[in-house]
Amino acid sequence: MGDETDSICPRCDDETIHRVVAMKDKKIHLVICRRCNSQHRYRPSLATITKKVPLPSERQAKVLKKVGSVRTSRPQVSLNEWQALKEIAGDKEPLPYDPTASYREKQIVSHRIFGLGFVRKVIDKSKIEVVFEHEVKILAMSRPKAGQK
Ligand SMILES: [Zn+2]
Repeated sequence: MGDETDSICPRCDDETIHRVVAMKDKKIHLVICRRCNSQHRYRPSLATITKKVPLPSERQAKVLKKVGSVRTSRPQVSLNEWQALKEIAGDKEPLPYDPTASYREKQIVSHRIFGLGFVRKVIDKSKIEVVFEHEVKILAMSRPKAGQK
């Protein structure tokens, strides 16, 4: 209690320092974000999640190095981010990706080719940035349906 820990803040959409306010079963339960002061359930930091996941290949090791050191706004492959988002999403049902549908940030989509993805950013009325397991894609949305003008 009262300790500080790195955790993912759903409001900041980032890994930030949090103060522990409640424990449950000897684990951190509730935290308050030091950046935005919002209270939410503890989400393990990217580093914590990474530790649990075996990363055997060199390629994945490189991805791991990138996270935490470089933060660019440019879409990039980020396995850790995908895993963190998956953890946050829990067992929410993914929505089948359909370019004529519209999506909001943090929604889960399942894509015919790319698999499970998370809407990281709504770029504009017709484009979303989606984090898939192996790549970040800009996908179309709210496209007029065929025959609809
Ligand atoms: Zn926050």
